[in-house]
Amino acid sequence: MKIHEYQGKEILRKFGISTPRGIPCFSVDEAVKAAETLGGSIWVVKAQIHAGGRGKGGGVKLARSIDEVRANATAILGMQLKTHQTGPAGQKVRRLLIEDGADIKKEYYVAALTDRATQKVAMMASSEGGMDIEEVAHKTPEKIIKVFVDPLVGLTDAQALELAKGIGVPEASIAQATDTFKKLYTCYMETDASLAEINPMILEGNGNIKALDAKFNFDSNALYRHPEIVAYRDLDEEDADEIEASKFDLAYISLDGNIGCLVNGAGLAMATMDTIKLFGAEPANFLDVGGGATTEKVTEAFKIMLKNPKVKGILVNIFGGIMKCDTIATGVVAAAKETHLSVPLVVRMKGTNEDLGKKILAESGLPIISADTMAEAATKIVAAVK
Ligand code: GDP
Ligand code: MN
Repeated sequence: MKIHEYQGKEILRKFGISTPRGIPCFSVDEAVKAAETLGGSIWVVKAQIHAGGRGKGGGVKLARSIDEVRANATAILGMQLKTHQTGPAGQKVRRLLIEDGADIKKEYYVAALTDRATQKVAMMASSEGGMDIEEVAHKTPEKIIKVFVDPLVGLTDAQALELAKGIGVPEASIAQATDTFKKLYTCYMETDASLAEINPMILEGNGNIKALDAKFNFDSNALYRHPEIVAYRDLDEEDADEIEASKFDLAYISLDGNIGCLVNGAGLAMATMDTIKLFGAEPANFLDVGGGATTEKVTEAFKIMLKNPKVKGILVNIFGGIMKCDTIATGVVAAAKETHLSVPLVVRMKGTNEDLGKKILAESGLPIISADTMAEAATKIVAAVK
């Protein structure tokens, strides 16, 4: 689960990391009032969307007067902000953050993230802050310093120092930088984050270190123990179909292709998507109906897939283990009838009560195309959508 920058900064402050003062806003009037409340003579108006690269896309603007705050807030609020992370359609800006303008001497990058290869938490830092870190990793990988943290020990003083020196923090600010790194590691662990990124972490003219941006990703399997983080969820920023699917306990991810897939088991779902690609087409979604798919669940799954106008055919691939093939067949027939299915449907089922399942499909009177192997199923659905 992702959250907004202003929410991320609230979390950072809870863990003792210094950030600029700021106030989130939902309207231009609120933005103006926020700037007046903060006082001072320079503010930053920042679009709040669940995507990075806002600066380059025109979603982060400095203001040197209250009139400029009003003008920037008017321009940014409601805009369709396009960044390299939003896709070509962009994301509508519904919230703003008004902050004290910072006196930036240098921008750094720092993040805590899960490193699968070492099965540890990696702390990553770079002297090239404020930039797209993927680009830094690609063009100048030597400018990224990484340490891997032993979970029993935590981020050590020596590791924090290695990071701070490695990115060239001046001597007078080293203590603040290492303190920030240690707090970021603690914050990452205690919130069950999978990514906690500060880009940029800045050195101010007076030598202070501050978090100027905050990006978090939380492990959704651990959200049950963090109601305070769940409360930050902003459904406007999430895919509507994925939200709908989660209500029915379906694991659903929207993709760009035109073949809808309904599968039981994540591994089989991945293999099904690979097979579709192998036979020259693209899946429209990942959908795992899980082990206990009822008729209701299968019907909802069909409805969600069919809402996508790009879907030109559906492939159902079921292994009947705990789930019996006749249950799925009954669900598929009911769903096809209820949704007045008008696109080709290929069903492949193997396992418990396979023959009974096939009989139910054959006797349904629906134009369901049956297949025995995954290759046959993929060949048939790819041919049907072409
Ligand atoms: P992102 O583009 O979505 O990652 O948004 P950021 O919050 O990282 O802002 C992008 C850039 O805007 C930063 O790297 C800074 O260069 C600039 N910026 C943000 N806040 C301030 C500020 O208070 N003062 C100044 N001068 N620049 C800022
Ligand atoms: Mn940033």
